Amino acid sequence: NGTRVVADFMTKKKDLHVLKTTTTVDEALETLVEKRITGFPVIDEDGNLVGLVSDYDLLALDSVSGGGLVDADFFPDVDSSWNRFKEIRKLLPKTNGKVIGDLMTPAPLFVCETTLLEDAARLLLETKYHRLPVIDSSRKLVGVINREDIVRAALEIKSTSEKET
Ligand code: AMP
Repeated sequence: NGTRVVADFMTKKKDLHVLKTTTTVDEALETLVEKRITGFPVIDEDGNLVGLVSDYDLLALDSVSGGGLVDADFFPDVDSSWNRFKEIRKLLPKTNGKVIGDLMTPAPLFVCETTLLEDAARLLLETKYHRLPVIDSSRKLVGVINREDIVRAALEIKSTSEKET
């Protein structure tokens, strides 16, 4: 029975939502919510993998801005409204006009199309990441393999091996 490789179970690039470093955070958030996506690979003009953004990163950004406003209340001694005004002014440009390049994880851990499925599964387990971008021999992004794909693969392998015995 043939060995399974990542390419057999990954989501192919044509079916993926990919982002550029210049995509605005607002745009990414919209896609995330609308399409129920939990993470995106980030590519450059030539299709090379340059980063990864997950809902975790976008959530962290949200709590940075929200948390900051609350934090201003932790200094009751400093004169209120002026300091608060300055705090907010400092935070606004951090969220507004932010682009994906600002918050992505650069140079993410990836696998190749030809990586054995069990090796990809082990990496996902060890790192606790939810997904690994998949590249070809010229470093171009060709897909993503996530936890769900691995579980699907395991089920398929189980059912075919049961049919054989
Ligand atoms: P998640 O995998 O969605 O739990 O993401 C948790 C954190 O790990 C986020 O900051 C991601 O940007 C980062 N991350 C997720 N997948 C990878 C990966 N394959 N390589 C490097 N960092 C990653």
